[in-house]
Amino acid sequence: HAREHGSNSLRRFDSEIAEQIERRKQLALRVRQAVTRQEFVAFFQPIVSRDFQIVGAEALLRWQTTNAPGPAEFIPFLEEQGLIREVGRQMLHDVIHTAARWRRERYAFESLSVNVSPVQLREEAFVTHVTTALKESGLPAHCLILEITESLYISDEKPVLERLARLRALGVRLALDDFGTGYSALGYLQWMPLDILKIDKSFVLKLAEAHSGRDITIVRAIIQIARACGLDVTAEGVESAEVAHIMCELGTHCLQGYHFGRPISEADMTTLLHSSAIPAHPHQPLT
Ligand code: C2E
Ligand code: MG
Ligand code: MG
Ligand code: MG
Repeated sequence: HAREHGSNSLRRFDSEIAEQIERRKQLALRVRQAVTRQEFVAFFQPIVSRDFQIVGAEALLRWQTTNAPGPAEFIPFLEEQGLIREVGRQMLHDVIHTAARWRRERYAFESLSVNVSPVQLREEAFVTHVTTALKESGLPAHCLILEITESLYISDEKPVLERLARLRALGVRLALDDFGTGYSALGYLQWMPLDILKIDKSFVLKLAEAHSGRDITIVRAIIQIARACGLDVTAEGVESAEVAHIMCELGTHCLQGYHFGRPISEADMTTLLHSSAIPAHPHQPLT
């Protein structure tokens, strides 16, 4: 009887795997069509200063189709399928031109943040893609922030390091994204050329819940490490005025989160920059 039961669950396991393979095949097909149909577009989420003025935006990839999966699902898939280079390059080009236009129109726009996949950093031509887009668009290099997530498959490889250093020498700023959750948080601080540290939203979201002393202590310690390393700090996942206030008290330079605005389309971001309708609350500048 036990044996029968075992083979039944094995069969169920088999069919689950078959289903999963089928789902992935379908997704691969949809993703390839989406690339040719240019269904991947950038949304923008405002980033504000300590006095809650919009100073920049993070570009976030969206797949515009019915029942589209979120980036947390489709980006790893684009990476696996080798499509992130093409999509990432197109995205980088587009959003750099958009940011240049926002600056030309003299909106108070200082910095565009773009997420970069480790796969892109492995590409020889990556630096050229960035510099070409900057030159064509007229966006100053210091207005571009490249966000790099700690991950298993980027380490202190010499060519990657060299590329990052070259970009930084041009004036492009580098941010370490999702700090604290990744594979080797402190290790990254040792080898990576960096300007900004983005505290992962999981830490920031916790501040809203209990106010347990420990959650605040962890965030405070992260900010101290960042500042001791000479880095600016951006908090992501700020969902309330209260948490925004706590983060400012703890010494954060910039804030990002639903309290200030969700990711929105380029057209909506243009309107927002025009009106700058962000809840106001002054904070002392950092010394
Ligand atoms: P990320 O770079 O850490 O981006 C922040 C994520 O947090 C975004 O999710 C954003 O919508 C979400 N978020 C912002 N504020 C809040 C908040 O107040 N509360 C909560 N709960 N969430 C908030 P999204 O857009 O789903 O992106 C997920 C991840 O996908 C990004 O995390 C980034 O790692 C990756 N990603 C997005 N666009 C790109 C891209 O163009 N290229 C690459 N390589 N990765 C991208
Ligand atoms: Mg990011
Ligand atoms: Mg993040
Ligand atoms: Mg991330």
